Amino acid sequence: MTIRKSGSRPSDLEAPDHYTGTVHTERLMEPPAPARVRVLSVSFEPGSRTAWHAHPFGQTLIVTSGSGWAQRWGGPREDIQPGDVIWFPPGEKHWHGATLGASLTHIAVVEHLDGMFVQWMEKVTDDQYAALDVGGAAPELRSTEEDLPPTTLLA
Ligand code: MN
Repeated sequence: MTIRKSGSRPSDLEAPDHYTGTVHTERLMEPPAPARVRVLSVSFEPGSRTAWHAHPFGQTLIVTSGSGWAQRWGGPREDIQPGDVIWFPPGEKHWHGATLGASLTHIAVVEHLDGMFVQWMEKVTDDQYAALDVGGAAPELRSTEEDLPPTTLLA
Protein backbone atom coordinates (compact mmCIF):
# COMPACT_ATOMS: atom_id res chain seq x y z
CA MET A 1 0.00 0.00 0.00
CA THR A 2 1.17 3.49 -0.81
CA ILE A 3 -0.19 6.66 0.74
CA ARG A 4 0.77 9.94 -0.84
CA LYS A 5 -0.13 12.49 1.79
CA SER A 6 -2.17 15.55 1.06
CA GLY A 7 0.14 18.47 0.40
CA SER A 8 3.06 16.23 -0.56
CA ARG A 9 2.21 16.05 -4.25
CA PRO A 10 3.74 18.61 -6.59
CA SER A 11 1.58 20.96 -8.61
CA ASP A 12 2.79 21.43 -12.16
CA LEU A 13 2.16 24.55 -14.19
CA GLU A 14 1.01 23.42 -17.61
CA ALA A 15 2.97 24.65 -20.63
CA PRO A 16 1.20 27.17 -22.86
CA ASP A 17 1.46 24.92 -25.93
CA HIS A 18 -1.83 23.19 -25.24
CA TYR A 19 -3.58 25.52 -22.82
CA THR A 20 -4.81 29.10 -22.74
CA GLY A 21 -4.32 30.93 -19.46
CA THR A 22 -3.02 29.52 -16.18
CA VAL A 23 -3.60 25.83 -15.49
CA HIS A 24 -2.08 23.74 -12.71
CA THR A 25 -2.10 19.95 -12.58
CA GLU A 26 -1.63 17.73 -9.55
CA ARG A 27 -0.90 14.06 -10.21
CA LEU A 28 -3.12 12.17 -7.79
CA MET A 29 -2.45 8.63 -8.93
CA GLU A 30 -0.23 6.97 -11.53
CA PRO A 31 -0.08 3.26 -10.75
CA PRO A 32 2.65 1.28 -12.53
CA ALA A 33 2.02 -0.98 -15.52
CA PRO A 34 0.06 -3.03 -16.32
CA ALA A 35 -2.32 -0.37 -14.98
CA ARG A 36 -2.85 2.26 -17.63
CA VAL A 37 -4.93 4.77 -15.72
CA ARG A 38 -3.87 8.24 -14.58
CA VAL A 39 -5.83 10.44 -12.20
CA LEU A 40 -5.15 14.16 -12.05
CA SER A 41 -6.60 17.20 -10.35
CA VAL A 42 -6.59 20.10 -12.79
CA SER A 43 -7.17 23.72 -11.75
CA PHE A 44 -8.03 26.45 -14.25
CA GLU A 45 -7.89 30.16 -13.47
CA PRO A 46 -10.84 32.22 -14.82
CA GLY A 47 -10.74 32.30 -18.62
CA SER A 48 -8.29 29.37 -18.81
CA ARG A 49 -8.99 26.25 -20.82
CA THR A 50 -7.44 23.34 -22.65
CA ALA A 51 -6.82 23.32 -26.39
CA TRP A 52 -9.05 21.11 -28.48
CA HIS A 53 -8.03 17.51 -27.91
CA ALA A 54 -9.17 13.89 -27.78
CA HIS A 55 -8.36 10.84 -25.64
CA PRO A 56 -7.84 7.41 -27.24
CA PHE A 57 -9.81 5.58 -24.52
CA GLY A 58 -12.03 8.51 -23.52
CA GLN A 59 -11.97 10.55 -20.33
CA THR A 60 -14.04 11.08 -17.20
CA LEU A 61 -14.10 14.46 -15.44
CA ILE A 62 -15.42 14.98 -11.90
CA VAL A 63 -15.90 18.65 -11.05
CA THR A 64 -14.76 19.39 -7.50
CA SER A 65 -14.98 23.18 -7.23
CA GLY A 66 -15.71 26.37 -9.11
CA SER A 67 -17.61 26.77 -12.34
CA GLY A 68 -16.63 25.63 -15.81
CA TRP A 69 -17.50 25.00 -19.41
CA ALA A 70 -17.01 21.92 -21.56
CA GLN A 71 -17.76 21.41 -25.22
CA ARG A 72 -17.46 18.69 -27.81
CA TRP A 73 -16.82 19.55 -31.46
CA GLY A 74 -20.17 20.24 -33.08
CA GLY A 75 -22.01 20.48 -29.77
CA PRO A 76 -23.19 23.28 -27.48
CA ARG A 77 -21.05 24.73 -24.75
CA GLU A 78 -22.14 23.09 -21.50
CA ASP A 79 -22.02 24.43 -17.95
CA ILE A 80 -20.25 22.11 -15.52
CA GLN A 81 -20.53 22.48 -11.75
CA PRO A 82 -19.18 20.75 -8.63
CA GLY A 83 -20.50 17.20 -8.42
CA ASP A 84 -21.03 16.89 -12.17
CA VAL A 85 -19.44 13.87 -13.86
CA ILE A 86 -18.61 14.22 -17.56
CA TRP A 87 -17.67 11.46 -20.01
CA PHE A 88 -15.96 12.06 -23.36
CA PRO A 89 -15.99 8.93 -25.55
CA PRO A 90 -12.80 7.72 -27.24
CA GLY A 91 -11.66 10.06 -29.99
CA GLU A 92 -14.25 12.76 -29.32
CA LYS A 93 -12.77 16.20 -29.99
CA HIS A 94 -13.46 18.50 -27.04
CA TRP A 95 -12.17 21.11 -24.61
CA HIS A 96 -12.80 21.94 -20.95
CA GLY A 97 -11.93 24.78 -18.65
CA ALA A 98 -13.03 27.60 -16.41
CA THR A 99 -15.69 30.16 -17.20
CA LEU A 100 -14.68 33.77 -17.80
CA GLY A 101 -15.64 34.81 -14.30
CA ALA A 102 -14.75 31.85 -12.09
CA SER A 103 -12.00 29.29 -11.60
CA LEU A 104 -12.59 25.56 -12.02
CA THR A 105 -11.05 22.43 -10.54
CA HIS A 106 -11.86 18.96 -11.81
CA ILE A 107 -10.46 15.49 -11.37
CA ALA A 108 -9.59 13.80 -14.67
CA VAL A 109 -9.44 10.02 -15.13
CA VAL A 110 -7.88 8.74 -18.33
CA GLU A 111 -6.13 5.65 -19.71
CA HIS A 112 -3.28 5.56 -22.19
CA LEU A 113 -3.04 3.67 -25.46
CA ASP A 114 0.59 2.77 -26.19
CA GLY A 115 1.67 5.61 -23.91
CA MET A 116 -0.64 8.24 -25.39
CA PHE A 117 -3.16 9.80 -23.00
CA VAL A 118 -4.17 12.74 -25.12
CA GLN A 119 -4.00 13.89 -28.69
CA TRP A 120 -3.66 17.65 -28.84
CA MET A 121 -5.22 19.77 -31.55
CA GLU A 122 -5.59 23.50 -32.16
CA LYS A 123 -6.18 26.09 -29.46
CA VAL A 124 -9.70 27.15 -28.52
CA THR A 125 -9.86 30.68 -29.90
CA ASP A 126 -11.40 33.54 -27.92
CA ASP A 127 -14.30 33.54 -30.38
CA GLN A 128 -14.86 29.80 -29.92
CA TYR A 129 -14.58 30.17 -26.15
CA ALA A 130 -17.25 32.87 -26.12
CA ALA A 131 -19.55 31.05 -28.54
CA LEU A 132 -22.36 28.73 -27.48
CA ASP A 133 -21.90 26.47 -30.51
CA VAL A 134 -18.79 25.69 -32.55
CA GLY A 135 -17.55 23.22 -35.10
CA GLY A 136 -19.24 20.88 -37.49
CA ALA A 137 -19.08 17.18 -38.14
CA ALA A 138 -17.01 15.10 -35.76
CA PRO A 139 -13.38 14.86 -36.95
CA GLU A 140 -11.30 11.76 -37.32
CA LEU A 141 -9.28 10.84 -34.25
CA ARG A 142 -6.04 10.97 -36.21
CA SER A 143 -6.65 14.33 -37.85
CA THR A 144 -4.40 16.24 -35.46
CA GLU A 145 -1.25 18.25 -35.85
CA GLU A 146 1.02 16.09 -33.72
CA ASP A 147 1.30 13.35 -31.14
CA LEU A 148 3.04 14.07 -27.90
CA PRO A 149 5.54 11.86 -26.10
CA PRO A 150 4.18 9.35 -23.59
CA THR A 151 5.13 11.48 -20.60
CA THR A 152 2.84 14.30 -21.63
CA LEU A 153 0.14 15.11 -19.12
CA LEU A 154 -3.45 15.62 -20.03
CA ALA A 155 -6.07 17.99 -18.97
MN1 MN B 1 -10.09 16.07 -22.07
